[in-house]
Amino acid sequence: MLQKIHRIGEELLRKESEPVKEINDSIKNLVKDMFETMHEANGVGLAAPQIGQNIRLFVIDVDNNPLVFINPRIKKMTGKETAEEGCLSVPGLRECVQRATRVTAEAFDIDGHSFEIKAEGLAARAIQHELDHLDGVLFVDRISKSRKNQIRYKLEQLEAGKDLPEELDEVEEETQEEEVSQTA
Ligand SMILES: [Zn+2]
Repeated sequence: MLQKIHRIGEELLRKESEPVKEINDSIKNLVKDMFETMHEANGVGLAAPQIGQNIRLFVIDVDNNPLVFINPRIKKMTGKETAEEGCLSVPGLRECVQRATRVTAEAFDIDGHSFEIKAEGLAARAIQHELDHLDGVLFVDRISKSRKNQIRYKLEQLEAGKDLPEELDEVEEETQEEEVSQTA
């Protein structure tokens, strides 16, 4: 079932989420809903707090490889790269964020088995972005102060629950770097 995606300005996106205690049917249904909601919104990642559940769980789907992360942890981060990033909870805004190039993460899957994954590029970026959600951090917290000042008005609009106007130069923007402009 499609779920409502909560937006910046809502308190639950700023909370530290609690570990998942048991992978029961309600968690399995939630994961199903998360994939459905994420795919419908053309996102590459979605964290449980974004649909109103403050628990440590997120899903990603990069290059048709859907993955569930329950109680995830990043074990290792290497390299640095800056790329444009968006968020389904911050609609219409894309900004450059510096992240580690490669991460090694561990988590439990939907069957309760622990797994370890080495990711790079967009998948590594998505994992870092989604894990931030579980700690109440949004990607706009990671942009420079000066840039944040420049887009203050847009952030205030979004936090007040308003939509941003369509950018006139959107077509031009989209042709530049399609891959990194996907939202999580
Ligand atoms: Zn996000």
